[in-house]
Amino acid sequence: MEILVCIKQVPDTTEIRIDPETNTLIRTGVPSIMNPFDAYAVEQALQLKEMTDGHVTVVTMGPPQAKSILGDALAMGADDAYLVTDRKFGGSDTLATSYILASVAKKLGPFDVILCGKQAIDGDTGQVGPEMAEHLGIPQITYVSSVKVDGKGVEAVRECTRHQEIVAAPLPVVITVVKGEQEPRFETIRGRLRANRYEIKPLTRDELPVEDEGIGLKGSATRVKRSFTPERHAECVWIKGESVREQAGKLYKALERANVI
Ligand code: FAD
Repeated sequence: MEILVCIKQVPDTTEIRIDPETNTLIRTGVPSIMNPFDAYAVEQALQLKEMTDGHVTVVTMGPPQAKSILGDALAMGADDAYLVTDRKFGGSDTLATSYILASVAKKLGPFDVILCGKQAIDGDTGQVGPEMAEHLGIPQITYVSSVKVDGKGVEAVRECTRHQEIVAAPLPVVITVVKGEQEPRFETIRGRLRANRYEIKPLTRDELPVEDEGIGLKGSATRVKRSFTPERHAECVWIKGESVREQAGKLYKALERANVI
């Protein structure tokens, strides 16, 4: 089975700072890591590789320093790694990003399974995986915690708010991954040595089957007009009742109404 995993480099912090002038993320001076959901996607890919004697390719689109997360995926056991990088890709929103990544899948493929994280912890839209499936015209299964191969397709456990679904799809398929039961494996010494020796392949605009109209700012359907920290109003509600039991019952109902439980 041929497996592609899309991984994104994200800041290693919950303190995302925004440049008020440009409305973009301030990346300088912030240590970066592989997006945590993407580490689960790599783990899932490696499990599929083991089940099917498959091959795992990892790809990231970003600046040259994004290479480091490709090295991490190689050290975990991925077979090949590509860095998609070109100034012409700058300013891409999710629509343009997914278009570029879909073109990578076309160029390097065919792939049976394309794995993404359910969302990136910085951009947080959760759009890139589903949009890739649309660009490629193939099925998608989102919020997946585990996958197994089933005949000529896959069967996935899909995590919903209050229940799980078992969803089957033919190949090729895009799968977006949540935190699974199996934690992402540690890199091995052998894997790290191989990663250090591995020459990560760059992919630029001219090597990909993309139109200029679909990439960068030109290809982006959205513009960030303003970014700000929302003001939140907290309200304190006293739950009254004759007994603790009555108060607990009212609290339970209030939490249920607020969709907390
Ligand atoms: P999500 O959709 O939440 O990610 C879901 C999954 O998709 C991830 O878990 C991962 O598996 C995959 N994925 C997402 N991004 C990548 C990637 N780059 N490489 C590989 N896999 C990926 N946005 C704007 O709106 N306007 C801009 O001007 C702009 N400029 C940018 C400039 C740079 C240099 C960069 C790096 C980003 C810029 N962005 C801009 C943000 C960009 O839109 C998002 O990074 C991107 O579209 C992904 O959206 P997201 O973070 O919400 O990912």
